[in-house]
Amino acid sequence: MTDRFSTQAVHAGRDVPPPTGQPVSPAIYPAVTYTYEDMDELSGALHENRGYSYSRYSSPTIAELEKAVATLEGTEDAVAYASGMGALHGAFAQANITPDQPVVAARNVYGATYTLLNKMYANNGALHWVEISDRDAVKAAIEQHHPRAVVLETISNPLLKIPDIPAIIDWAHAHDAIVIIDNTFATPYLYRPIEHGVDVVVHSATKYLSGHGDVLAGIVATDAARANELRMQSRYYGANLGPFEAWLTLRGLRTLGLRMREHCANALQVAQWLQTQPSIARVIYPGLSDHPNHQLAKQLFRADHFGGMVAFELRDADEPQVFRFMEALKLIQAATSLGDVYSLLLYPAQSSHHALGREERLRQGIGDGLVRLSVGIEDAADIIADLEQALHAIK
Ligand code: PLP
Repeated sequence: MTDRFSTQAVHAGRDVPPPTGQPVSPAIYPAVTYTYEDMDELSGALHENRGYSYSRYSSPTIAELEKAVATLEGTEDAVAYASGMGALHGAFAQANITPDQPVVAARNVYGATYTLLNKMYANNGALHWVEISDRDAVKAAIEQHHPRAVVLETISNPLLKIPDIPAIIDWAHAHDAIVIIDNTFATPYLYRPIEHGVDVVVHSATKYLSGHGDVLAGIVATDAARANELRMQSRYYGANLGPFEAWLTLRGLRTLGLRMREHCANALQVAQWLQTQPSIARVIYPGLSDHPNHQLAKQLFRADHFGGMVAFELRDADEPQVFRFMEALKLIQAATSLGDVYSLLLYPAQSSHHALGREERLRQGIGDGLVRLSVGIEDAADIIADLEQALHAIK
């Protein structure tokens, strides 16, 4: 090594050998590019996927996350993205969802997914929105339009409807359509869509998979051939996840089972308590026997687990009253995300469903007093106490 300062500053320490023992936790590889002693090896890395060459093509921390999610979803492979929307966009592009290809999609998908599809199709008549929990309507739409793909979510937002996924897969496949499902709300802990034959599983890993409200990430879990194409696409779409975010998501994944157990147990307790409150007009939770898809949830999901999301309607409440309720909360945070260890409450009329306008929102069954609670893993008694004091405060 030279004794000139600037060169030393740039290169000193690089000859420390990599660890010989296997590190017990994942390493973060921020390197954007890789060098090889043998230039044939570099060519192999660049053009034949033999090793890492440039981090938009692949990178070790991200590969570790992708393998972990593929394992949990039971798919051959998975491809990570910088956000859930990046993942959805990648999945649509890989499935060749273009404006000349008909698509049948659940009307109540996440708002940005709805907007993305609407923008892609620009009202050209090939995009067919359906009420996804209406079996007859979905079957008829698939038979009539012969879509390229059916797009749906495992659990809808905010009304927590569950579509008859196995039947939809059968109808779609009978008409050569692929099925793309957003499994963000359920996570593979509750439900593994691949086991029913779904072709492409998408996640906003920003939510339960990472779980701590500190990462924006997305992932597509699918078969090896599709994943390969997704990776090739990422080379020019470039919506790649960064290594630090991949590491945080991996760290979150380690406790996904533990967290989901707590989310589900807490959500059930909160939902049952809300049902006893005179100031609550309606409680929506798939784990309650009066939920319209309770039986289906029991059939599809892990035994006695119904997710961490609860929606409820404050009786006779208008926007100012809901705002006062949200401002009165002390433990539960009024914020737009979900799936975090923290309890988060969202007002659809103000945020996720604001763009619909009041009339359409009401038509979809999302009332002025409806709020959505992402039940965290705090002690259930404290979540309930916070709801109780906030309800009391607005009396
Ligand atoms: N899918 C669902 C069900 C979501 O709730 C969200 C975000 O809230 C997304 C996709 C988009 O994910 P991201 O915010 O990570 O882009």
